Parts: sequence; C-alpha cells; structure tokens
Amino acid sequence: MAKVVHAARITAPDGAIWRTCSDCGQLTALPQNVERCTNCGDQAAKSGGRR
Ligand SMILES: [Zn+2]
Repeated sequence: MAKVVHAARITAPDGAIWRTCSDCGQLTALPQNVERCTNCGDQAAKSGGRR
C-alpha cells in the first residue's frame, strides 16, 4: 500500500517562489510581481494603499 507522505509541505501561492523580502529581507514565498512579504505589503497597503 502506497504511503502518502504529507509532512511539512510548503504552501505557496501559485507562481510564487521563495525569495527574500526587499523591505525586511525575510525569506518568504512571493509572486514574481511582488517584492515584499505579506507583513510589509499589508503595512504599506494600510498606510495609504499606494506609494
Ligand atoms: Zn518584508
């Protein structure tokens, strides 16, 4: 019987790759069009929504 291994599977958004945030430098899964992690992105979005 085939044993399914589902341990610590990386859950990343579709098209996302593991890279470092350009703001805080934390390694996280980011889409190619996103350069900041969710923390920095959320903060920027909440601050004004646009640069
Ligand atoms: Zn960040």
